[in-house]
Amino acid sequence: MAIRTKLVAGNWKMNGLRQDGAMLAHALKERALAAGGTLGCEILVCPPATLLSEVGGILAGSGIALGGQDCHAAPKGAYTGDIGPEMLADLGCSYVVLGHSERRQGHGETDAVVRGKVAGAWRAGLVAILCVGETQRQRQAGEAIEVVSSQLAGSIPDTATAATLVVAYEPVWAIGTGLTATIEDIAAMHAEIRSRIPSGARILYGGSVNPKNAEAILGLSDVDGALVGGASLDAADFWSIAQSCPAG
Ligand code: PEP
Repeated sequence: MAIRTKLVAGNWKMNGLRQDGAMLAHALKERALAAGGTLGCEILVCPPATLLSEVGGILAGSGIALGGQDCHAAPKGAYTGDIGPEMLADLGCSYVVLGHSERRQGHGETDAVVRGKVAGAWRAGLVAILCVGETQRQRQAGEAIEVVSSQLAGSIPDTATAATLVVAYEPVWAIGTGLTATIEDIAAMHAEIRSRIPSGARILYGGSVNPKNAEAILGLSDVDGALVGGASLDAADFWSIAQSCPAG
């Protein structure tokens, strides 16, 4: 069975002017160089599109990967304000986050729309980090597994492989709220997701991951890393989360 290297990904969301992004990138690069490849995980940062070029330049040679937070399904065209997957690849991105709940809710992205974007990302050679997760109402109604299974079925193109797809399970009610799913619920949902995606594909947990809860979450056998929002804006906190990955 393929080894699933853990991935700790920082989603900076719509945060940071150029100076903030540069400071954060320098602080992460410093830590990465000091660690010298001894971390038990791969590190990825997903800054806002406006910072990709500068942050990518600073991180060059650090081993930290660069990713986008969204992309259009098409490679180019008359889509004012959008960013094509090839544009992300051209800036040095190797990953793109797709179907984040803030896009599904705030921009009306359906599973079909997300599926098109995943396929577009793959055409550009990017790894898609596909986000899925239930709302609080859905969890309380006992519908969490059904909702997530339906998102997976609707958002993943048939050509998915372990090398091109990463799934991020992010309960909507846990994002940016300080609430996290219980260890038992995370384990159960990840096992369910594992049964529905290509063998060897990684599954991240996201939702208020912080230096205090990271070790317990990242220690679960079906958790292959974390998608970190708020805590990724602080280099020390983000690095501490990455250091919580069990060694090899
Ligand atoms: C996210 O944005 O994907 C996320 C999980 O945010 P936070 O860590 O702040 O909950």
